[in-house]
Amino acid sequence: MTDTLLLATWKEPGEVAVRAAWERALAGGNVLDSLEHGLATAELDPSLMAIGLGSLPNRDGELELDASIMIGETLEAGAVCALRGIVPAISVARKVLEDTPHVMLAGDQARRFAIQNGFQPRSLMTPENLKAYEAWRADPSLYERRYVHSLTEGYEHHGDTITMLGWQAPGRMVAASSTSGLSWKMPGRVGDSPIVGAGIYADDEAGAAGATGWGEELWKAAASFQAVEHMRRGLAPQAACEEVVRRMMRRQPRSTWMPCVVFAISPTGEFGAATTQGVFPMWSCRNGDISFHEFPALTLD
Ligand code: ASP
Repeated sequence: MTDTLLLATWKEPGEVAVRAAWERALAGGNVLDSLEHGLATAELDPSLMAIGLGSLPNRDGELELDASIMIGETLEAGAVCALRGIVPAISVARKVLEDTPHVMLAGDQARRFAIQNGFQPRSLMTPENLKAYEAWRADPSLYERRYVHSLTEGYEHHGDTITMLGWQAPGRMVAASSTSGLSWKMPGRVGDSPIVGAGIYADDEAGAAGATGWGEELWKAAASFQAVEHMRRGLAPQAACEEVVRRMMRRQPRSTWMPCVVFAISPTGEFGAATTQGVFPMWSCRNGDISFHEFPALTLD
């Protein structure tokens, strides 16, 4: 098989996604198919409180999903945001890419498009995420306490998002992301993940990059596009990610309050990652060889 590299963010959900993506590659899928399948598998798994079915809802107790996918060869992209009651959101994003002249569909109209294309509307709530929502409703300061705890004793970010990058020799790249967004977000809030240039970017001439963490800060930094542009001017992926994260830490001091992560692949298949806070866990799969990596937060010196 052609030399292939797949990357997925966060510990538990990332492992599910990277393994499913590799299975799809083994079954003959290209990188686009593999990333879609990896994210769709995680979205459809109700036991993962990360993305799609069973993930953490907004403050109305409703799930609004964001997803995006971009092909580095052609710069074609598709995305959905604030999509309710439809999974896998990543497959709807791919449909937007392939079957419409647009890049993004939003909210109720994204849902209508999905239903017209054969996706079945369903409730995305499970007994587990309902219980989590009820606990938050009963005591919203629970969240505040978790947040304060994060600042003082190390943030336990389990990942409300999976972002994936795929590379195949001689240098074809795809970037994709799926998320339920920040838990307890305001209804209608959209983060970086479905935004081309913020949550994902891929250009075979320069590299591919993805982001995860605090979407508002990552979006303001145009984090993924910025990382790809650093690779275009010659930086290796690790240095490119560090450049983005250091600039965020300097220009957006709030970006250190919660993890803001950027990771990237070069056209030759090297990769790197950097975070503003905590330790960022990521999975890689190179031709079936699956490894776990941890990237400690950078410091400003
Ligand atoms: N970036 C996502 C958002 O802000 C959240 C995450 O990556 O966990 O919606």
